[in-house]
Amino acid sequence: LSLRSRLSSLAGTLVLALLLVQGCGAPPEPPDRIFVDARIWTGNPEMPEATALALRGDRIVAVGTDDQVLALVGSGTRIEELGGRRMIPGLHDAHMHLPTRPTADLVGAAGVDDIVARLRAFAAELPDDAWITGRGWTPDQFPGQAPHRRYLDAAFPDRPVLITDRDGHLALASHRALDEAGVTGATPQPPGGEIELDPEGCPTGVLKEGPAMSLVSRLLPSPTAEESYAVLLSEMARFASLGLTALQMANAPSDPLWAALERAHEEGALLHRVRVAVPFRTDADGSALARWRDLQDSHTGPYLRFGIAKGMLDGTVDGGTAAMLEPYARGGGTGLPMWQADALNRMVARYDSAGIQVQLHAIGDRAIRMALDAFEYTSAHGGRPDARHRIEHLEVPAPEDLPRFRELGVIASTQAIFPTPDATTLTNYAPMLGSERAARSMPFRALDEAGAIQAFGSDYPVFPIDPLLGIYTAVTRQLPDGTPEGGWHPEQRITLESALRHYTSGSAYAAFREEELGTLAPGMLADFVVLSDEILGEAPEALLRTRPVLTVMGGRETWRDPETE
Ligand SMILES: [Zn+2]
Repeated sequence: LSLRSRLSSLAGTLVLALLLVQGCGAPPEPPDRIFVDARIWTGNPEMPEATALALRGDRIVAVGTDDQVLALVGSGTRIEELGGRRMIPGLHDAHMHLPTRPTADLVGAAGVDDIVARLRAFAAELPDDAWITGRGWTPDQFPGQAPHRRYLDAAFPDRPVLITDRDGHLALASHRALDEAGVTGATPQPPGGEIELDPEGCPTGVLKEGPAMSLVSRLLPSPTAEESYAVLLSEMARFASLGLTALQMANAPSDPLWAALERAHEEGALLHRVRVAVPFRTDADGSALARWRDLQDSHTGPYLRFGIAKGMLDGTVDGGTAAMLEPYARGGGTGLPMWQADALNRMVARYDSAGIQVQLHAIGDRAIRMALDAFEYTSAHGGRPDARHRIEHLEVPAPEDLPRFRELGVIASTQAIFPTPDATTLTNYAPMLGSERAARSMPFRALDEAGAIQAFGSDYPVFPIDPLLGIYTAVTRQLPDGTPEGGWHPEQRITLESALRHYTSGSAYAAFREEELGTLAPGMLADFVVLSDEILGEAPEALLRTRPVLTVMGGRETWRDPETE
């Protein structure tokens, strides 16, 4: 085919799209890069599949067939053939947390020996007298499901060790750490927390909830600016290799982390678009709201933004602290909401009128209803239209509340990997709820059917951040080993395409960026991922062997697999 005949095959819609992007009259400038011979899942209902994409600067300028897009080639255009590989929009985590300090990753440790081995490997990088920290353990990793400092004391007799559990509600401190903090069997129990004691009245090392954990954690030295920056850079590099191009932090960053984010932004080192939250607090007065609103208005660039406030309405099902309408099946009450309804309604309305989106952690059906009620109250009292307030996690919504998400325009900020049927889910979570409520927990399909907009995230570091693993879980409700057969409450499984939408356009919508993020079409920001294997039309196990081979954010390569160059 000659260039002339290729040009003549250009679709009219493509020409029109180019003109819209580049302004009428001026001849379109050629793309910087063109990717051809791909299988592109665009997420754009007007052209769901394509084989080629062109970008210039940080934007997509064309999506179409190879012929259509090759017709745009100019003298400086680089062309890359993708060998039929699958391309999808950049993955966008709508709820995660960035760590501030280096810490050992204990998520998924095979047992207490593995925990100690991971802590040893981590400690080898530290000065001899430094605190050893880790996070992500679960009680079932310990013999008899009983975490105890004796395992830490045996391995690290002279070192202070403090490791927090997966959900962040428990910590385990070594003898030396308790010593340095002056915590003994005689220490008064802190209100709202517990220093666990053995039958002899000695601390087991387990510290429950913030007030007890902070007796020891307050001794941890602040990370230096360099440490925080190094952690940020290494985490971003890993996230990019997993296909992530955008992150929404579901908390206000610590000072060292904020400094690291600003420095990365200034140095052009951010590998993701990062949206940062501010706190949702009982004592937020006019000047605090104005200050947060200023941050929002002064960070409107493509990479680092504000715009949302994060609040907490309850705890977790595993801890029996999620606020439920009916008592837990294992006893222990209904959990307690952290807010009174009147105060919550007023404060949501207050943030809303300051122009700040609100995201509320609400896991139990009672807390979820309180959040929906507060958003309804706000909208009935002069609330802004299209405010897109959000509920985070919403693990056990009452079925009759599902339609309210669509009616009120409230975003369901769900976590793809939460229905993972691991030991904690099957032996603690489900029995806590009882069979009827367990069967309707993490109801991704019911939310879709109720017309809710779901934005997928990971809640990293509570769970692994890997979005393909999350998508596998949402699609199968199985562990990677394929158990349980048929999936845990399989009626709530969703399709792969739904899961992809929640992880791309759903997250973009939740951050008010659906006009430039989440789909691949002319004029959108050039954020996309090329995968090693086909995932669409394949068995879900394909997700487990598939890795990103190329991640592009704003036209720039943030990850390229060295083995597939
Ligand atoms: Zn979270």
